[in-house]
Amino acid sequence: MSLLRFHAIKESLAYKFVNVQEHERRSDLFGRNVFNENTMRQYLTKDAFVGVRNAVQFGKKIDRNIADQVASSMKDWALAKGVTHYTHWFQPLTGSTAEKHDAFFETVGGGMSIEKFGGTQLVQQEPDASSFPSGGIRNTFEARGYTAWDPTSPAFIYETTLCIPTIFVAYTGEALDYKTPLLRALHAVDDAATAVCRYFDKNVKKVTSSLGWEQEYFLIDKMLASSRPDITLTGRTLLGHSSAKGQQLDDHYFGSIPNRALNFMRDLEKECMLLGIPVKTRHNEVAPNQFELAPIFEEANLSVDHNSLLMDIMGRVASRHNFKVLLHEKPFAGVNGSGKHNNWSLSTDTGVNLLATGKTPMSNLQFLTFFINTIKAVHQHEALLRAAVASASNEHRLGANEAPPAIMSVFIGEQLAKVLDELEGVTKGKLSPKEKTELKLNVVGKIPDVLLDNTDRNRTSPFAFTGNKFEFRAVGSMANCGNPMTVLNTIVAKQLKDFKTEVDALINKKDLKKDEAVFNVLREYIKSTKSILFDGNSYGEAWEAEAKKRGLSNNNTTPQALKARISKASISLFEEMGVMSKIETEARYEIEVEVYIKHVQIESRVLGDIARNHIVPTAVKYQNVLIENVRGLKEIFEEKYHNVSKEQVNLIEEISNHIEGINANVTKMIDERRKANSIEDIEKKAEAYCKHVKSLFDKIRYHCDNLELLVDDEIWPLTKYRELLFTR
Ligand code: ADP
Ligand code: MG
Repeated sequence: MSLLRFHAIKESLAYKFVNVQEHERRSDLFGRNVFNENTMRQYLTKDAFVGVRNAVQFGKKIDRNIADQVASSMKDWALAKGVTHYTHWFQPLTGSTAEKHDAFFETVGGGMSIEKFGGTQLVQQEPDASSFPSGGIRNTFEARGYTAWDPTSPAFIYETTLCIPTIFVAYTGEALDYKTPLLRALHAVDDAATAVCRYFDKNVKKVTSSLGWEQEYFLIDKMLASSRPDITLTGRTLLGHSSAKGQQLDDHYFGSIPNRALNFMRDLEKECMLLGIPVKTRHNEVAPNQFELAPIFEEANLSVDHNSLLMDIMGRVASRHNFKVLLHEKPFAGVNGSGKHNNWSLSTDTGVNLLATGKTPMSNLQFLTFFINTIKAVHQHEALLRAAVASASNEHRLGANEAPPAIMSVFIGEQLAKVLDELEGVTKGKLSPKEKTELKLNVVGKIPDVLLDNTDRNRTSPFAFTGNKFEFRAVGSMANCGNPMTVLNTIVAKQLKDFKTEVDALINKKDLKKDEAVFNVLREYIKSTKSILFDGNSYGEAWEAEAKKRGLSNNNTTPQALKARISKASISLFEEMGVMSKIETEARYEIEVEVYIKHVQIESRVLGDIARNHIVPTAVKYQNVLIENVRGLKEIFEEKYHNVSKEQVNLIEEISNHIEGINANVTKMIDERRKANSIEDIEKKAEAYCKHVKSLFDKIRYHCDNLELLVDDEIWPLTKYRELLFTR
């Protein structure tokens, strides 16, 4: 093994980076491999084009005849680009993307063959889906699932395959993927937000949810990464002593992007351009070898697809540059973890961002309405929002001493907090003309100026308002954004629906004017949601204590956090908004709990293996060298040998203690695993894994990492942190 470490280092030092040149303008490359509106105009008949556009914009059904035409044109377009296969591309609950390629090629008898692709193949497919997680849905109801075309996300070509974005559902209709509930949630928020918008502008017919994610990741030399069994099998380091130099100098964040990484980015961005992913920003992140990439925001469903696609192609492009991409939330202890901020807003078909201030008091009242309703939604469903970002890997970030914390809160900045304070004083019931004027001129009317000063962008709150959007920062770097976006859009939809009911009641029963009714309801919301607002001034334990006083949940562990998914309130929320049935919600919960168990189980096995089979034998080897040395000293110095071999003898003893520490804890861990495995109830099993198995990781690691400091570097088998993090 030690040979492998040095071999990997040698290889990585000898690697000459590939220079990636950009010959074409990005705007020329953009969307070249996408069957987008522009391409459709060229390839589709007018009928077919209108059919698809109506499906995209208004959710109209595409009939059989049109589907055939679209399929045939898609095929022509793809064949002209050298494509041989097609696939229904979907996002099962495993967390990655799935595809099964079929050739266009068909035999037609008489030794002849053609390229064929019809409406049936476009619209519906049956993948061999028996091994995708279904939380018991398929066992209980129907043994198979199928994929169905999502025309709202355009087909694209990757390498020589035509990829058709699809949903993945059981034959009985239950969602088995991330996309189906997301589409339903986007529909719900469209309905609810459009209805509220119409208080302010009767021309609004549709509200779209937008998402701009910021993807953080690590780039590690491929040889070095593959020399570590923990990175290979779990995507993170399970042990390793921190490097003498880490991120304390902050020199990576402000430094220039290393050449090899820059070439990887250029290559990746070119692929993104071809696939219509509008990447815009790239920079170093806080930790060494950590980076970030962000696109221009898009409609949420498309943006989610683009992020899933990106995570997939990142790995492939990285390989061309001898890198391994680590998307794990906490690949290295002691250095910054990775997140994926989800920037979210709502906008109308009339071109208004509902979370941006406007030029008139009325448009600012509309802004306040959406702003305050979002805060109220988060307040009401903070535990569910936390559950939406819970995973075994994100547990190391949320809940550990890292920002953002596991406690959900909303940061809005000092200035907007002041505006809310003023609105809290609005008179109950009818407002005097003087008060109305005062509000319009001096409170609502002043918001745009206020926002200009909103520069104190707090980085520690998990949900922050940043000028014209909310930024959900607790999302993990590995996560499929579909899950958090489903939850966020659903809770906002529900809140807007309730808001409308309340405002309408005041207008109809109390005879209030529309703006009076809106002010009245908002005032009550401001009063009742104060506990969710985070001013950015307390951290760590102080904030935990404060949050506890306020009644906010603080679910540090994943099993604990996930429970909110199946609370009575959550189940009825998803049912009411038409996003998920009770069965779907419960199935999803079951899958997430099971995935958690499996992750911890795998990590535990890998850790046990490395500790016992790599670290202990190496420590013994070094100890034998020391023993040999002491023996030699005894031979030379005879009775005086005690004086000259003191240090060696201490070391021998220290090593023995650590070996004992490792063995005792690994034995205990295996025992706890056995106990946990025998538990039937998956909820209890997950808790056992979390409490009794995972809790031993740090103890084992402690002894291993200490041995790393004692044992001769020449024989240490695992590639060290300094080598992983500082190889450029
Ligand atoms: P940072 O948060 O790092 O300062 P920016 O604020 O510039 O970066 O933007 C981060 C992401 O937010 C980008 O993907 C950007 O396109 C997206 N974004 C900007 N405005 C909106 C919006 N109205 N809705 C959704 N996302 C947005
Ligand atoms: Mg950001």
